Amino acid sequence: MNNKDHNDDLDIEETKKKEHDERDGGYESVCYLCRRPESKVGKMIHIPNNIDICSDCMQKTFDTINQGDNPYISMLGIPPNMMNIPSFSMDALKPQKIKKKKVEEKKVDAAFDRKNVPVPHVIKASLDDYIIGQDHAKKVVSVGVYNHYKRIYSKKNPNVEIEKSNMLMIGPTGSGKTYLVKTLAKLLDVPLAITDATSLTEAGYIGDDVESVISKLLQNAGNDVEKAEQGIIFIDEIDKIAKKRNTNSRDVSGESVQQGLLRLLEGADVEVPVGATSKNAMVPLTTVNTQNILFICGGAFPDLDKVIKERLNKQSSIGFKADLKDKYDADPNVLQKVTVDDLREYGMIPEFLGRLPIIFTLEGLSKEMLVQVLQEPKNAILKQYQELLAMDEVKLEFSQDALEAVAEKALEKKTGARALRAILEDIMLDIMYEIPKDDNIGSVQITRDYIEGKGVPVIEMRGTVSPKRIAAK
Ligand code: ADP
Repeated sequence: MNNKDHNDDLDIEETKKKEHDERDGGYESVCYLCRRPESKVGKMIHIPNNIDICSDCMQKTFDTINQGDNPYISMLGIPPNMMNIPSFSMDALKPQKIKKKKVEEKKVDAAFDRKNVPVPHVIKASLDDYIIGQDHAKKVVSVGVYNHYKRIYSKKNPNVEIEKSNMLMIGPTGSGKTYLVKTLAKLLDVPLAITDATSLTEAGYIGDDVESVISKLLQNAGNDVEKAEQGIIFIDEIDKIAKKRNTNSRDVSGESVQQGLLRLLEGADVEVPVGATSKNAMVPLTTVNTQNILFICGGAFPDLDKVIKERLNKQSSIGFKADLKDKYDADPNVLQKVTVDDLREYGMIPEFLGRLPIIFTLEGLSKEMLVQVLQEPKNAILKQYQELLAMDEVKLEFSQDALEAVAEKALEKKTGARALRAILEDIMLDIMYEIPKDDNIGSVQITRDYIEGKGVPVIEMRGTVSPKRIAAK
């Protein structure tokens, strides 16, 4: 400590003392028990009714209680050990400190400023870093999001009301629907809530009522209402709440959940519990307005292609443009020709569809796309394994053939890119187990044979080229 600091400290002490003296009118405190002044015994403990006790007397009092020779207690006939008073030392009153954990500054990895959302092609370029294929979907989403946030933050023309850009995404399982929304929310640094339409029920039934999704969003926004009101809500498996077709029975679950969602999609004030997903007397409520929340619904809509083909075949066989009756039966891209009428026919109610003005499709991933998913995105699974082994200074490589074999295995499972991780984890288990055993291993190459269980990976030792074997799977 330099002289100046020391002098500053003395000054502060001096001022504090002066202030204290002034407060006490220049008198100093005296111990209530031993009557010694503060200047003799040091700092006093102040208790209500203007009583000051010095630390010596306080310690003596506690010691007396602890030793059990308290005359009052003996008078009552209570054995001292029954008092069960924990032993106390004045040291406990010394200020104690716990070293604070270093709070790391939260790194915001938002690529964009929400209030100044970049133009659509820039948003799409960022999505390209993570999502393989799905060009059309990425384009539509970029434009939709751009317009959505422009609508919120730009100066409003009172004569034109811009419609909300809620979206409906149609695409097979594992084609990247959830991933697209998650990536988008991360890039924009907006809170995101993902929910499954099948878990939603009409208010009053067992399950989450539709408003619970707003609570979820609020929670994910750290209970910041303003932040939540600009967030994104993704409702997956929306096709599961379609009205049952060709039945006369009342369909409570599907249609009523669609009805329940209408209000939210359009923009409404919703009263939601803070810090919980269900309302009860113990939690405070707050109001969230859904006017600026972007709703994205997604679903696989199985058999929707049949509805579309039926319509297209019917159209093509009527009138002058009469065509081959089954022209569309083999068309792999028939889903892209979806219209609102097809979705209505599928069982979505018109009012619901009316509130999702942007409808687009994602394609099922081909073998080539799956190979790309394995190695190209910024956080590709393969890159993650390579990074893990690089920490042990081991180089991991997959031959092109091996990557294709993994993709073929995934295609068989019919769950799109979702199957890739499980397959790769299975393949990599032995490698990740065996490699750290031997410090001399420099690189591992995975071959198609190894993936098909017919061979072993090629292992090279550091500085040599002598292949080593790991037991075949
Ligand atoms: P779904 O369409 O069923 O919602 P997901 O988005 O959940 O599918 O995809 C599952 C996983 O597969 C994602 O976490 C992502 O890692 C990977 N994936 C799916 N589609 C793609 C894609 N087009 N590009 C990159 N990765 C993808």
